[in-house]
Amino acid sequence: STQRLEDKLVLITGASGGIGAVPAILFAKAGANLVLLARRQDKLTSVASAAQAAHKAAGQTKGGKVVTVVLDVSDREGVNALRGKIPSELGQVDILVNNAGFVLGVDKIGDIKDDDMEAMFETNVYGLIRMTQAFLKEFKARNSGHIINIGSVAGREAYAGGAIYCATKAAVRSFSVSLLKEVVDTNVRVSEIQPGLVETEFSIVRFRGDKGAADKVYEGLEPLTGKDVAEEIVWVASRPAHVNVAELFVMPVNQA
Ligand code: NDP
Repeated sequence: STQRLEDKLVLITGASGGIGAVPAILFAKAGANLVLLARRQDKLTSVASAAQAAHKAAGQTKGGKVVTVVLDVSDREGVNALRGKIPSELGQVDILVNNAGFVLGVDKIGDIKDDDMEAMFETNVYGLIRMTQAFLKEFKARNSGHIINIGSVAGREAYAGGAIYCATKAAVRSFSVSLLKEVVDTNVRVSEIQPGLVETEFSIVRFRGDKGAADKVYEGLEPLTGKDVAEEIVWVASRPAHVNVAELFVMPVNQA
């Protein structure tokens, strides 16, 4: 039940748009407090307002405190200093949703630029690992806490033109499994959610702004929405404390 989320502190990376903005609303409705993290302050501010409005409209009396943190998860020093930026009255983070990630380009391997390759690994892999490191020690010490990593179908099977993105998501998958094994003697939970195609800004960034090419990917199928994935995140986070959803693979009905 989502009652288990009441007064919990949930930190979501990549909360300024796309998939990450939606669980912010659902967690607020369920009575959680939130730390919303991304690079764009204006977008974070509007997601924070929407989350607070949803909290109020739901008549929710628990939680509802929302703070925003402007941070690039690939900024090592910034991530190290992050815990000091979370107001102490919010308490300790209970649930970390590692959602920030992106894909840049659909390039043949010989054409991949070093900068693009490094940027994808920096955010999707190193950023996710550093964010995890920032909270893992206290989660272990408290013998609680939940890390929810957003992987992808692209971490299970690769497609031509997606070599780097798929490799980053395969890394998220194996990191998540290794992390789960490391904490198996504790009550810390580790879940990885692997969505198929979801229509967000991501879809256009992948084709460097070419909307026509982006739309073609969805021909003959109805992609998932941010809400579909957000509902999975909230479901995973609200299982009883002895239940860990290790892996959840969610596809549009017609995606091969
Ligand atoms: P969007 O591009 O719509 O949103 C990405 C979010 O991440 C934005 O809020 C962006 O905000 C933030 N972000 C990106 N880079 C960083 C960074 N370095 N530091 C902090 N925040 C960052 O993408 P989606 O919502 O579609 O993607 C979310 C996750 O879901 C990603 O991990 C993606 O790989 C995964 N996914 C997406 C699928 C899809 O088809 N869309 C399918 C399967 C998985 P800002 O620019 O403000 O920092």
